[in-house]
This record gives sequence, C-alpha cells and structure tokens, in this order.
Amino acid sequence: MAISEKKSSQHSIDLEDKYGAHNYHPLPVVLNKGEGVYVWDVEGKKYYDFLSAYSAVNQGHCHPKIVGAMVSQAQTLTLTSRAFYNDKLGEYEKFATEYFGFDKLLPMNTGAEAVETALKLCRKWAYEKKGISENEAQIIVCENNFHGRTTTIISFSNDSVARKNFGPYTAGFIKIEYDNLSALEKALENNKNIAGFLVEPIQGEAGVYVPSEGYLTKAKALCEKHNVLFMADEVQTGIARTGQLLAVDYENVSPDILILGKAISGGAYPVSAVLANDSIMEVIKPGNHGSTFGGNPVAAVVAIAALEVVRDEKLAENAFVLGELFRSELGKYIENSKVAKEVRGKGLLNAILINDSEESDTAWNICMALKENGLLAKPTHGNIIRFAPPLVMNKEQLLDCVSIIIKTLKEFE
Ligand SMILES: *Cc1c(COP(=O)(O)O)cnc(C)c1O
Repeated sequence: MAISEKKSSQHSIDLEDKYGAHNYHPLPVVLNKGEGVYVWDVEGKKYYDFLSAYSAVNQGHCHPKIVGAMVSQAQTLTLTSRAFYNDKLGEYEKFATEYFGFDKLLPMNTGAEAVETALKLCRKWAYEKKGISENEAQIIVCENNFHGRTTTIISFSNDSVARKNFGPYTAGFIKIEYDNLSALEKALENNKNIAGFLVEPIQGEAGVYVPSEGYLTKAKALCEKHNVLFMADEVQTGIARTGQLLAVDYENVSPDILILGKAISGGAYPVSAVLANDSIMEVIKPGNHGSTFGGNPVAAVVAIAALEVVRDEKLAENAFVLGELFRSELGKYIENSKVAKEVRGKGLLNAILINDSEESDTAWNICMALKENGLLAKPTHGNIIRFAPPLVMNKEQLLDCVSIIIKTLKEFE
C-alpha cells in the first residue's frame, strides 16, 4: 500500500526552492483551493484573498460560469493557431470591441505581450500615418511605471531590480514625472518625433498612486493637440477594479490604444488584448505581429464569460461602493494610528502606507500577521501594502476584513 504523503506547506515550498528559479519572493503560504473571495492552504486554513492574483481574479476564484465555459471549450477545441480560423475568436472580438467601444481587437496572452503589441502598433502608426522618419519614433512613459518585464519594457522602467544587468536596453523612450501635465507638455513641444504616451491611469505596482483629478483628460487633450497616441495600460486598473469598467471612465477619456490583461479572463487563463480603432489598427498586416496561443478558442470563450460576469453581477458598481466603505472605515482607524499613515485608492484597488522606511520589513511583517489572522496581502514596495480583494465580495465580508486589518495593525502600534 502506498504511503500517503502528508501535504505540508513546507514540502511545496522546499520543492519550489530547490527546483524553481528564484524570481519571486512569495509569502510562505501554499494554496490549493479557491472559491469566490476565499482561498485555502494545504493545511485547510481559509483566507480572504486581498491580492486577487494582482487583480486578475476580479470575478472571484473559480467562478462557475467562467470555469464552465473553459471546460466545455477545452473538451471541444483548444488551439488551432492563427494559421486557420476558429469559430470563437470572431465572436469574442465582436463582443469585446462592442463592450469597450473600439473598432478592433488584437488578441495576446499576457499583459507584457499586450504592452509590447501596443508599442509596436504605436511605432508603426507613427511611421506610416504620422510621417515620422524611420527609427526616429519616441514614446513618452512615466517615472515609476510598471508595464511588465520584457527586455523592451524594462528598458523604460526605473526599478533597478527589474533592470540591472539586463542591458543593452531598447531605445526610443522618454521618461517624465507621473501626474505632471507641464512635464508632458514640455516633452511634447518642439519634438516632432513623439509617437505616443503610455500611462497607467492609476500606478498600481508603484504603490497605488492615484493622479490628480483631470490629469488623464488633460493628458489626452495634449496628446490630441500634438497628434500623439494616448495609450492606457489598464491591465491592472481595468475590468471594474477601480469602481468603473475602466479607470479612464472616471474622466470620460477614450484612449487611442487600450491595453487589457489580467481580469479579462477572470484569472482562469492567460488572456490579454489591445484595442484600437481602424485608423490605427489597420497598419498591422499579416506577419507583422502574432502569437501561437493568442486568440485561441478557449481564451475567447473564457474572456466573453469573464466580461459577462462583470456586467451581469455589476462588479464595477460593487467595487465603487465597497471601496468607499473600505477607505472610510480604515481611514477612521488610521487617523490615530502610529503604524499606518494613509489609505488611498479607487474602488477596490487600495493601499495603506506604513509609517516606516522602504527598506524596513514592517510591511512584510504586517502581511505575515495578516496571514495568521486569515487575510492574504503583499507589500508592493517596502512600506506599502496593496489591498485588492475579488470584486464579488459583499459588505459583510468587507467589514469583516476591515476588522481583521485593524486588529492586525493594533499588534504593531
Ligand atoms: C501586471 C501588469 C502588466 C504585466 O502583465 P503580465 O501578465 O504579468 O505580463 C502590465 N501592466 C500593468 C499595469 C500590470 O499591472
């Protein structure tokens, strides 16, 4: 008789440590089940998930409608490549373009790939439509951005951990301060070679930095004035996370290029997308860009189901209401706290600022204590903790979570 192996967390951690590359530093918790706003570890302990896989699981873990669509498509047809048509991609493209209000969609798999796609699209548009001379196009990006980890994307990051010893870097990017309109204006003026401006409507990884009201509207207007494409990276902020379908909806901004990923599949499958109107997307011709898995039928049906869940379950509205409650409840506590300085965010993309240096391990230790108390979150930078639960949470659960967070902070006062 086989000896049944005890499923201990330590065993899983040891395996990853020995056989996996060390490109992450996870919290020491090993999960093997998720449902809605909850996840369970291998010892059976239940947690509130306050990371939602970096906002990929907005629709909640293992949403039956999304999983159902995925399973039935997986039993029928999984992959054809784009060498042939499949009967699901066109349906998805129609659905998603109508849903977000664009003419066309280019399907990819991961967020970084979608960002790369947007950059290529923007450059090609600049040469063929704007008339910039070959190899002269420049794209404006923001300080402290996070757009993924490919070689080109880290080329314009200022995170030294993501960059160091990965050079030489891709040229053609100009970095300006985030939330600074005069810096954008200055970069646009007297430079005929600017093709686009790539921006996160809220800087998520940087620590949930919400720009001043009007920033996105005015930035879009400046781009229009200079015939420069406004590219919104909504991989983290999009799909109801911030209390609107897109974070740019707060300012009624229509990006020229919209970049989506993460929650477009509800975390069930790697799906990303770039959306744009015909005048831009038409520069892409067969062979210019592609991906073996991009636009596969499983991804297509999963994304339709995931977007239907967002609409049918009114997740944007729920995120808006619960976000206000979260910040006001936590804000009341933080007013008199010595360990937490500030709570900020929009919808259910929030962060608290810990009253210690970036190099300190206070935020990490608070996350370890939160884990003990049944809630999983992770520091983004040394002293900032992001709180981003699935959007299918209800008010009672949210208030339960607020009390767990306050109880935990009290242990550090
Ligand atoms: C996560 C993220 C990406 C990268 O997505 P991956 O799927 O990890 O490649 C890009 N942009 C933003 C804003 C993100 O949050």
